[in-house]
Amino acid sequence: MRRPFALLLSCALALPAPLSAQSYDLPDLGDVAATELSPAAERRIGEEIIAQIRWRDAAYLDDPEIEEYVNRLGHRLAGVSNNPTQDFDFFVVRDPTLNAFALPGGYIGVHTGLLLAAQTESEFASVLGHEIAHVTQRHIAQIVGKQSQSAMLMMASLLVAVLAARSNSDVSQAAIAAGQAGAIQSQLGYTRAFEREADRVGLETLDKAGMDVRGMPSFFERLQRNTRVYENNAPAYLRTHPLTTERIADMENRVTRMPYRQVLDSADFRYARAKLRADAGQPADAVRDLESEVARAPQAEEMAYGLARALLRAGRADDALVRLDAVRKRAPASPWLETLAAEIHIARRDGAEAVRILDAARRQFPASRSVAYALADARIQAGQAGEAAKAVRRLLDDRSGDPRLWQLLSRAHAALGERSAQHRAQAEVYVLRGSLPAAIEQLEIARKAGDGDFYLLSAVDARLRELQRSLQEARRQQ
Ligand SMILES: [Zn+2]
Repeated sequence: MRRPFALLLSCALALPAPLSAQSYDLPDLGDVAATELSPAAERRIGEEIIAQIRWRDAAYLDDPEIEEYVNRLGHRLAGVSNNPTQDFDFFVVRDPTLNAFALPGGYIGVHTGLLLAAQTESEFASVLGHEIAHVTQRHIAQIVGKQSQSAMLMMASLLVAVLAARSNSDVSQAAIAAGQAGAIQSQLGYTRAFEREADRVGLETLDKAGMDVRGMPSFFERLQRNTRVYENNAPAYLRTHPLTTERIADMENRVTRMPYRQVLDSADFRYARAKLRADAGQPADAVRDLESEVARAPQAEEMAYGLARALLRAGRADDALVRLDAVRKRAPASPWLETLAAEIHIARRDGAEAVRILDAARRQFPASRSVAYALADARIQAGQAGEAAKAVRRLLDDRSGDPRLWQLLSRAHAALGERSAQHRAQAEVYVLRGSLPAAIEQLEIARKAGDGDFYLLSAVDARLRELQRSLQEARRQQ
């Protein structure tokens, strides 16, 4: 790994330096009060940033299965944190460095490198617990509260720039630029105190969630060891970043006073990591990597799953099927195995079998969103778009803010040749991705398509008026 690990858990938020972010829209701060950041304003800033990331950041990992897993673990921790009513959303970023970060409003990003480097689920959870604590302790609002409103805007632009830089896989560039702005020193004091508090509160959360608290010092210690190797080349920001030696000592002290607990990793944790490995790099290399893992640990079902996935990527669907069916026979049932089985059948042009597998999986795992998405997708591909649209519409009754569902609905209508309905659904995808002009354009296309019934067209008109009003409102505030 080329870059240092020391950015781990760094708060990009603590650096109020403006940077250019040409490809990003700056969040609209609206009527944010100049003296403090209210939870609602914080959530709105976070929402706008996350919409940009999901929509435009090539590094955003658009993998509903992995995202669902990280959210399940994250919400389990957040539910026992000291502010269980705070909203949280977790997302994953494809980046080999070991980092995680909290955006305003409870949006927490995790690098794939971190998930792969964690040797136990408790280690991974310890980082989530630390980030959750930054949010529940309102560190972001406190930092912002000490700034003027213009500094807030700069902070938001910096955040976006950091993300932009990271998506070009060069986050240290952003950190260096921030360092040159010379605004760091005054912030480090807060950062140190906040880091210590986030460690302490995060550790308590980890304990209450029933995880192994020793995961925290062990993971941080390993990260610190890795950091030392790079220290001489580290940019100034990384060298002056809060010392982890005392933080680790603090954690170790606390942990010795807590009860010993042996915790097994969940199957989801193991499957998520195997999937990341199977999807990384060249398919042939991934096959070799996982073949050697399977040879080393023939009983590890997640490695056999990973190998099947890598084989599918390498265009060897038949080999993948043989491997996966062997795992499905011996391993406990899991949505990960069923969605992959369906993917393999789709690759073999057997959409009907994919639908059959996912339909059964849907009954077995009714709470799994990933299975529901995969089933709708398989139905569209198997010529059952009408069924898909019906099922997706039912799901939207409870989850109208889910852009993946709107995208599936749009695709289902497109497959049915229903253009008004297709563009009506596509408009909602754009709304949720923070692009009102694009959404309005879709509604105008829906109107002109001429194949919608009276009810659909009235809904289109009403939505169009609503969005035009929101757009005017947004422009007035700028
Ligand atoms: Zn931190």
